Amino acid sequence: MWHRPPSLARPSVSLTCRTGRIGLPHVAGTQLRLRGSGRRSASRVMADANSGAVDSRNGPTMLMWLRQDLRTHDNPALHAAFKAATAKQGRVALVYVWSPEEDTSEVNPAPGGAMRVWYHNALAALDAKLKHTYGAGACIIYRHGPYNEALLQVAVSLGARSIYANRRYEPTMAQTDARVTRQLKQSGVFVETFEGFLLHEPQQIAIDMTKWVGHFGTLTPFSLAVSKLPPPPKPLPSPPHLPTHPLPPSSAAGGVALEQLGLARMPRCPDGSQIDWSKGIKDAWDFGEDAALELLACFVSSKLRQYETKRQLADARAVSRLSPYLHSGELSVRRMYHTMAQANARQISKTAWRRVLWRDLAYWQLHHWPALIRDPVRTHYSAQRWTDTATRGGRGAAWLKAWQLGRTGFPLVDAGMRELWATGWMQQSVRMVCAAFLTEYLNIHWREGAEWFHDTLVDADLAINAMMWQNAGKSGIDQWNFVMNPLSNAQDPDGNYTRRWVPELAALPTKYVHCPWEAPAKVLADCNVTLGASYPHRIITDLRAARADNSAAIAEAKRAAAGQWADAGGYDLIVVPKGASTTYDGTRMRIFTKREWRIRPNGELAAAETTTSGSGEKSGRAGGGSVAGATTG
Ligand SMILES: Cc1cc2nc3c(=O)[nH]c(=O)nc-3n(C[C@H](O)[C@H](O)[C@H](O)COP(=O)(O)OP(=O)(O)OC[C@H]3O[C@@H](n4cnc5c(N)ncnc54)[C@H](O)[C@@H]3O)c2cc1C
Repeated sequence: MWHRPPSLARPSVSLTCRTGRIGLPHVAGTQLRLRGSGRRSASRVMADANSGAVDSRNGPTMLMWLRQDLRTHDNPALHAAFKAATAKQGRVALVYVWSPEEDTSEVNPAPGGAMRVWYHNALAALDAKLKHTYGAGACIIYRHGPYNEALLQVAVSLGARSIYANRRYEPTMAQTDARVTRQLKQSGVFVETFEGFLLHEPQQIAIDMTKWVGHFGTLTPFSLAVSKLPPPPKPLPSPPHLPTHPLPPSSAAGGVALEQLGLARMPRCPDGSQIDWSKGIKDAWDFGEDAALELLACFVSSKLRQYETKRQLADARAVSRLSPYLHSGELSVRRMYHTMAQANARQISKTAWRRVLWRDLAYWQLHHWPALIRDPVRTHYSAQRWTDTATRGGRGAAWLKAWQLGRTGFPLVDAGMRELWATGWMQQSVRMVCAAFLTEYLNIHWREGAEWFHDTLVDADLAINAMMWQNAGKSGIDQWNFVMNPLSNAQDPDGNYTRRWVPELAALPTKYVHCPWEAPAKVLADCNVTLGASYPHRIITDLRAARADNSAAIAEAKRAAAGQWADAGGYDLIVVPKGASTTYDGTRMRIFTKREWRIRPNGELAAAETTTSGSGEKSGRAGGGSVAGATTG
């Protein structure tokens, strides 16, 4: 398959975010009004509902409020709505309200462009499945927000007093849900919420640091804390049938067509033609819970056995590719957990088993550091010197643009960034190579990378993205203790992944595909490669010096604050949020700190720098692997 390089694929939106919304917080006002109805009192609204204005002869309607749970299997809220409707001879109706402004704040960016496209298609798939399985009356009612107004109107029109929803954990979303629940309650409509998005809710987990099993906030002590909780509940089956309204309730409830929500609206060129940047995403993925369950079955039956040895490969042959389905809730993480447990995943691949827990760890971090996407967990790292990317025409802005477009001149980085743009996804090790290239070699702020990933990933997840970018930028709890060398061919030993996404280099022999600048002139000519023309020159050439500069920038920030934020061993200190640990609430605690930044309160380095890159940085040669530290599993 041939893919156009991104620079050709997106002529007029080349460097704007797909939504144009990132970094522009829109917090909705809290005063919500019923549009077109003036200030009708809540009691009047409910009186209308009960006066026979709607057909509620067969018992009340139970309203299922869909959000990040676009599935029928193991959907606790849907299950409860089904049970209540069955018991009361009522009906179930499903509603999806699009109101991103209410969920957005400075620390909770609006959904990115790729994720909106994903949601559009996931909703369409669920709608089709619901109608096919349960009849036409099971269609989803789509509404624009505000939530309170939309839900109240739907409730009134269908005679519903109960709304069922699965909980959301992003900070602004959780606040919005609490507010909407209060507002609806005042109108006589009750929202009942359920666990269904995580294996364990973050507030249940407090890390016990009295016995040392690993640094605070890393996976080992976290999983020990989790192991003391009851295992995640067994997944629920899909409702066998849904007692729905005989006719599609959408028009009665003021619903609009899915397209009208505008989730997948594409930009237009000046000549009126449409730029469909979502085509690559739609070509690369099947949407819906059936597709997710098929991928899960394939993962446990075949890929899992290769996970331990081949998970680092860029072509994703050994990983599940389930992340976008988990984020949209097309796949229940509890279903994944129990399916993996049944397949003995823990014995087959310890790493795969731990990966699923990483997701909960990210939500635990987000719970305790709600500004994770903006503020360094190691607060003193906020003074770090970064490359200036704001000056138009400056070197930093050009570097950032080259990284985003996949035109850095480093083939593996470019391949990853182009795959990301085209399909909305990258395998984990490639994400790490690209993230490390931006932060460690270009010394560009991790927030720039997080923002770009948020807009372009179909699995863009506030908690995981923020945690991983903070770790890549070294200000996170688990700062990376390894080097992800852009010249390493560990992720793509045969070069075929790079050839696929960087077709300009497709004809090069494997020996040169990751380092075309080393190829003799004749080889380049024979392969139709002209560096600087058909493929860009490297934007930096001295990798070792570049990384040393980033390391020095971190050391400067550390040294300036070491009196307050370093312990005697030079380890960084953080204030432990209340409830995060069983014993250290509100006090300072040391967290893992890479040797080269163990700077004592007196400003001296605690230990000589011993980290080796093992990566061919000096020679500039490809072939070196990444040095994995203890914090990668
Ligand atoms: C800079 C950076 C940004 C990232 N941003 C995101 C993001 O926005 N959304 C996202 O889902 N993942 C993110 N990841 C984590 C990881 O790359 C993806 O979860 C993984 O590649 C998804 O592929 P998979 O489903 O095949 O994973 P598998 O390897 O099959 O793992 C199964 C599941 O475990 C979970 N998981 C795996 N690795 C991690 C991890 N490091 N942290 C938390 N959960 C994990 C995911 O839910 C994943 O689907 C990011 C990684 C990096 C380095």
